[in-house]
Amino acid sequence: MKYIFITGGVISSLGKGLTAAALGTLLERRGLKVGLMKFDPYLNVDPGTMSPYQHGEVYVLEDGAETDLDLGHYERFTSCRLTRRHNLTAGQVYEEVLRKERRGDYLGKTVQVIPHITDEIKNRLRHMGQHEDCDILITEIGGTTGDIEGLPFLEAIRQFSLENAPGQCLFIHVTLVPFIKAAGELKSKPTQQSVAKLREIGIQPQILICRSEYPVDHETRQKISSFCNVPVEAVIEEQDVKHTIYEVPLMLHRERLDELVVHALGLKAPQADLKEWEKLVGRMISPKYRAKIAMVGKYLGVPDAYKSVMEALFHAASGEDTGIDLVKVDAEEIEKQGAEPLLRGMDGVLVPGGFGERGIEGKIAAARYAREKKIPYLGLCLGMQVAVIEFARDVAGLKKAHSSEFDSQTKDPVITLLPGQEMNGAKGATMRLGSYSCRLAAGSMAEKAYAQSEIRERHRHRYEFNNAHRAVLEKAGLRISGVHPQGDLVELIEIPDHPWFVACQFHPEFRSKPDVPHPLFRGFAQAARVHAQN
Ligand code: GLN
Repeated sequence: MKYIFITGGVISSLGKGLTAAALGTLLERRGLKVGLMKFDPYLNVDPGTMSPYQHGEVYVLEDGAETDLDLGHYERFTSCRLTRRHNLTAGQVYEEVLRKERRGDYLGKTVQVIPHITDEIKNRLRHMGQHEDCDILITEIGGTTGDIEGLPFLEAIRQFSLENAPGQCLFIHVTLVPFIKAAGELKSKPTQQSVAKLREIGIQPQILICRSEYPVDHETRQKISSFCNVPVEAVIEEQDVKHTIYEVPLMLHRERLDELVVHALGLKAPQADLKEWEKLVGRMISPKYRAKIAMVGKYLGVPDAYKSVMEALFHAASGEDTGIDLVKVDAEEIEKQGAEPLLRGMDGVLVPGGFGERGIEGKIAAARYAREKKIPYLGLCLGMQVAVIEFARDVAGLKKAHSSEFDSQTKDPVITLLPGQEMNGAKGATMRLGSYSCRLAAGSMAEKAYAQSEIRERHRHRYEFNNAHRAVLEKAGLRISGVHPQGDLVELIEIPDHPWFVACQFHPEFRSKPDVPHPLFRGFAQAARVHAQN
């Protein structure tokens, strides 16, 4: 197995995760088997306890691991199947080392960052090396070179490369080449300094990927090459994409990144076949139809908070040859102004997942507007819960119906905690997490969309549809279109006599890929396209 390590310099948010994922796409298209993993230097054991304002979306894997959103890029851009072993945080490393210390495993030694923390990190790499079925394992190191908390990870990968045969490991550094308006030129100094920092630690990157708003000219590349000790052909640019992130693999291919990597690692692989990927990007860039979709949420100022939802929507829309005009609607604004002025003219309403009471009545009002005006609706997790509350209140006559998450005293808790699901104070990894099976009702919209009667989907929630109210709601016309057979948990609801009103307790967005849109998003996008044409 060969190892590629991707570090980042100068600033955060350079899109290292996307770059790692795009490299994965290219190497897979060359017939290589690729694995992707991420090291996160923060001390949280996982990002599950972090607010979307801090961290953006929490990406959930099949096995229920709550991980960094970059793992979402990895799964969308490649055929990787990731597990909790593919996201290692400093918190997990320390947790493990301290557990061993308490057990007495270190036999009286002083426990230190070097070698104990670094050894633990190397153990994970070795473990992946032995168990991951791939030719190349790409590991992204979160954070920015120079961060104190990132040092043990950089030290560990330095040692790891030394312990492996030459040519076994490859270091790629993603850096920033800013354009300074006043000087009218691109500046290479931040890159020089960031590489100097890496070399101080003992890592000499072999490839530099320069993130830039403008083309990086030959002179600048030459300068970076000589100051950073990297051959000029291995100094490549990654400009900001114009239309979609799915252009990134094509751009990096034009810069010959995959060729450089294959060559540096001494691999033999045919040229990349990117025809299908090019077609897909083409459809995304110039779609035939357009549809206006409102996403009703509350973390709207944080672009990454609904990452997978937005990607899944774009995948589905491109499958329908439709461009999405996405309107982010603040649920609290609906509470102030009512749904009409904010949702009028929309071809689809999407209510994604969420936690906490703020904006909840706005989301309920959005579900009502979509139901009454027959606008296609897709509810995800909390988006299903609000649809159930809305239906209970307005159609089934349970005027005070609510979720016990928001009103613990409600007489009609249509959404509630199941016995045994109480938190007992602990917040980390205590939700219903990961993949569960779901049986679809014959003849339902969901069954038609999936063209299957048994599915598996990923979950991340604490509250559930309350079966005590099921009969009343069904009698009033709510269709239960999917249940988890063990425990008879309601996973999908829909409203008949509506062009598309489907809501699920799980998170379908985590399984959508650009070339294989998720059936529920596809159904929603199709209904929105039809709505837009009428
Ligand atoms: N807050 C709700 C619950 O815990 C919904 C969670 C979500 O949307 N992910 O059940």
